[in-house]
Amino acid sequence: MNHPVDDSYQWPTCAACGHELWVSETGRQACRPCEDKTAKRLAELPGLFQQLNTTASLMRGARKVGAATSGSRVPPIPPRLEVLSLVATGGVATRLRDIEDAWRAALGWTVAPWRGSPTQAVPEHAKFLINNLPWAADAYDSIDQDVEDLRRLHDECTAALTGERRPGRVNVGYCPAADEETGGVCGNQLTASAGSPRIQCSNCGTEWPDMAAWRDLRLAQEAATRMGVAA
Ligand SMILES: [Zn+2]
Ligand SMILES: [Zn+2]
Repeated sequence: MNHPVDDSYQWPTCAACGHELWVSETGRQACRPCEDKTAKRLAELPGLFQQLNTTASLMRGARKVGAATSGSRVPPIPPRLEVLSLVATGGVATRLRDIEDAWRAALGWTVAPWRGSPTQAVPEHAKFLINNLPWAADAYDSIDQDVEDLRRLHDECTAALTGERRPGRVNVGYCPAADEETGGVCGNQLTASAGSPRIQCSNCGTEWPDMAAWRDLRLAQEAATRMGVAA
């Protein structure tokens, strides 16, 4: 014989991951594991940003050097667009600031003060969010969105640095290396990947290890194009 069961009661769950809360977590918006993971991501973001920003500035340097040296209309080596979109205004710094502003609004505080360039602002926003995360996990009713946003932001930064995603590679023109026997140009499509300035031809193995070498690469590509022998 079955006893009637009142199934209208629902055990409280974490707003971010949906897992049931422990009794000791009752009344919280997000569970402790979600809070811990978010805190770890926030702590790592400034370092990830710094690495991304280094790569990005290398890219900008490449463009400038190419323009000044050749004076031609040869397009620059394409910058890593996803890296640039993360380090520029609208990227990591802006997305952290938007979360900080939302938390401040919920707390009845004034909006985030001006923190300077993205490089200066990212650690400051991260610090604010880490300091106030215990409150947000406890009482902020939109914490689920922010846990998710911060997870995605962290993923985007990590992916841009490791270059494991296909869109993380960009074409940087044809390999201008000459075959030692035939003297012909290799002509293989070269690609560059996230987080590393190293370019290596998958066909002939010629390598351009750093930004100075990129400049040589670009000059060699221009020369090969002028000779009309590029693929
Ligand atoms: Zn959770
Ligand atoms: Zn090659």
